[in-house]
Amino acid sequence: MRIILIGPPGAGKGTQAKRLVDGFGIPHVSTGDMLRAAVKAGTAMGRLADEAMRAGKLVSDDIIVGIVRDRLKEPDAQAGVLLDGFPRTVPQAEALDVMLEAEDLALDAVVLMEVPDDLIVERIVGRRSDPETGAIYHLVFDPPPPEVADRLVHRADDTEEAVRSRLAAYHAQTAPIVPFYEAKGLVKRVDGVGAPDEVTARVRAALGR
Ligand code: AMP
Repeated sequence: MRIILIGPPGAGKGTQAKRLVDGFGIPHVSTGDMLRAAVKAGTAMGRLADEAMRAGKLVSDDIIVGIVRDRLKEPDAQAGVLLDGFPRTVPQAEALDVMLEAEDLALDAVVLMEVPDDLIVERIVGRRSDPETGAIYHLVFDPPPPEVADRLVHRADDTEEAVRSRLAAYHAQTAPIVPFYEAKGLVKRVDGVGAPDEVTARVRAALGR
């Protein structure tokens, strides 16, 4: 099963991806997570990506397509994959098509998680993650248990200023991939407003799983 999760920043893609892959037995491939790991490790690619990420801008298509191409060659991605945060531009979507066609593979679905902009800023500014478990919390909507509170991290690009820039990048560069996949009949629209469990149920229903 090959699925893409699309949606604005803070739509809940990462939260839903973590829940879905357990049941589907496919890896969760998040380009944002891969880039953050590269920044943390101080690799050449991490240094290149860091500035754009902090500013809430997109990293260049060349870098991103390269890391996804390598990741899709890994053994665990052969039976399927859940892509989160990729593709984010029409050229990335076209590059993915070329990669899949070369292996005679196809996408099963593109899940579009819809959340209005005014909710996004509120969600993102309160977002915290647990570096030990990968769990994502919200200080108000999904408070973390007190025993993990001290180790939670706030993403460098989860500030109000960077979120506005990420939302602008989403509308200008990522939203145009929706008609690209609609033309292929792959898009399933899911309302991303609500508790994580409710949204998971909607995504599963949209995928017929
Ligand atoms: P995310 O964790 O998906 O919100 O991604 C965090 C940041 O990483 C984005 O704001 C971009 O700067 C960068 N990034 C992640 N995925 C991509 C992509 N497919 N294309 C370009 N930049 C990306």
